[in-house]
Amino acid sequence: MENRTALVTGSSRGIGRAIALELGAKGYNVIVNCVKNVDMAHEVADTICKNGGRADCICADVSKKADVLKIYDFAKRNFGFVDTVVNNAGISRYALFTDEDDENFDEVMNVNLRGVFNVCRAFVPDMVSNRFGRIINISSMWGLVGASCESLYSASKAAVIGLTLSLAKELGPSNITVNAVAPGVINTDMIKNISAQTIKEFSDETPIGRCGEPEDIARIVSFLASSDADFITGETINASGGFVIK
Ligand code: NAD
Repeated sequence: MENRTALVTGSSRGIGRAIALELGAKGYNVIVNCVKNVDMAHEVADTICKNGGRADCICADVSKKADVLKIYDFAKRNFGFVDTVVNNAGISRYALFTDEDDENFDEVMNVNLRGVFNVCRAFVPDMVSNRFGRIINISSMWGLVGASCESLYSASKAAVIGLTLSLAKELGPSNITVNAVAPGVINTDMIKNISAQTIKEFSDETPIGRCGEPEDIARIVSFLASSDADFITGETINASGGFVIK
């Protein structure tokens, strides 16, 4: 593989961690990012390096433009051109719509939507100049079909799909593909507050018969970043084990 560098936002744990490790194993230089779990982010970068890859990490909040510019400067200084961006960082909030407030709205939208906007704004200009780029946005199946009691989360993830569609059209002529993955229920810290009974119900309702693992999503991201997916853009891959079939 030619020299490739990927930024994976929110990669100290969960799906982002699995994506960083998968891309590292495939030979990408990897920039690991987290908002506060610095030790865990270091562990991910160290694991990639121990396995013969190249990685480093930076703590920065994707919802803040100044922080994202710090990621950009760090990446440029240490790795040069970042050709692959995986917008994975995200948060979920569970609440009845009637209990939602402005604070929740800002919190969820600022990370899940503004975060993707900030990162794309920082990294796309170099992709355009280099006439190459791969952007992969982690949405959610709830962005496709909506989740009860997760209205803001669902709206933010649907917005990410909208952004993916329009950026794919705008950036295609610059040889930049923009795709999304819409995972179903994946076994990470994000779902640790959901009861074992509810998780079992999700599994039972999933045709494949289980919840997903972070590696299930990492392999899809790796495919979308690879030359095997050169002719795919504006696509959202529904990775829910069949929980959502439209
Ligand atoms: P997680 O909570 O285990 O990990 C989230 C990661 O994002 C962490 O590394 C955290 O540090 C980082 N992060 C959070 N806010 C950030 C910010 N402001 N700036 C930078 N990093 C930030 O969650 P996960 O399950 O691994 O989720 C990863 C992505 O997958 C999210 O976008 C989530 O919405 C999406 N997703 C998850 C599931 C699921 O069931 N776990 C399903 C569908 C989609």
